[in-house]
Amino acid sequence: MICERTVAENAWQVEEGLYRVLLPLPWSVPFVNAYVVKSDGQYMLVDCGVGTETSLRALGRALKAIGVPPRGLSLLLLTHRHPDHAGAARAVHEHWGGRVLLHGAARRTYPSSAEMLSWAVEEGLVGEALERLRRERREWPEPLPEGLEPLAGDTLRFGAVTFDVVHAPGHCSGQVLLHERNRGWLLSADQILTPLAANVWYQAQGEGDPLGEYLESLEATARIAADLVLPGHAAPWRGGPAQGAQQMLSFQRDYIERVAACVDAAPQTAWQVTERFAASQGGRATDASELAEVLAALVHLGETGRIQRTEERRWIRS
Ligand SMILES: [Zn+2]
Repeated sequence: MICERTVAENAWQVEEGLYRVLLPLPWSVPFVNAYVVKSDGQYMLVDCGVGTETSLRALGRALKAIGVPPRGLSLLLLTHRHPDHAGAARAVHEHWGGRVLLHGAARRTYPSSAEMLSWAVEEGLVGEALERLRRERREWPEPLPEGLEPLAGDTLRFGAVTFDVVHAPGHCSGQVLLHERNRGWLLSADQILTPLAANVWYQAQGEGDPLGEYLESLEATARIAADLVLPGHAAPWRGGPAQGAQQMLSFQRDYIERVAACVDAAPQTAWQVTERFAASQGGRATDASELAEVLAALVHLGETGRIQRTEERRWIRS
């Protein structure tokens, strides 16, 4: 158990010099955590929520209550470039100032909605799910601030606080975790999520094997010697990352097997495997994001030689 001291209705002091700010999301995952580190009278913000008015107001109230003066941020660090963590970066930078850092391996460009659509069609998406994707046509993620700097090196010094920067790809390329050895903190971004979920998407060509990278980075996370874990979407906990990382690893390994069981000798599109997978779990596939999740598992199974992709982009057992 940890005891957080309330600073504002959505902000808590977790430890001396460390604050958690809860920001609202307009999605089924209702909240994201941003963290404020204060050292030598300077303030650093880790992640900043989505760029909606509601979230920006909630962040503004929290920063004020914590004591951050106007334009008083020295640093905004983005753990990864997902809209719930980095969407507000430009607005926050304009309002609160400071340098903005994102890992050099983070993708700078994303497929446009037109490219997403042609990708989904190539992977066999049809029917209601295709219509939904066509209707949404959402361009994302939001543009990053001008002057964004690549986070380079394995350590980040901020006043008296020194973070080991741990590159943890899989959930998102260029995701980083911040480990403060002396204080025992691990800002774990979206590496360990509860409830357990696929957490990895494959949405375009040339993305390598993100699920394979996730398995590797989870193994490394389990070995990090930190006590206080500060995640992107749940309450912080004590006792280190090992148990959570191991649970996520078992979930992912089991998930890969459940997807593998849906591939057989007859060629199927990735969407057909997705529909079959959803049915095997007692549900129905309705969304392109489910296709992207299953595709991450298919690509990983392909990388490890257990299944194959035909020239017509169909999946079969090896
Ligand atoms: Zn997230």
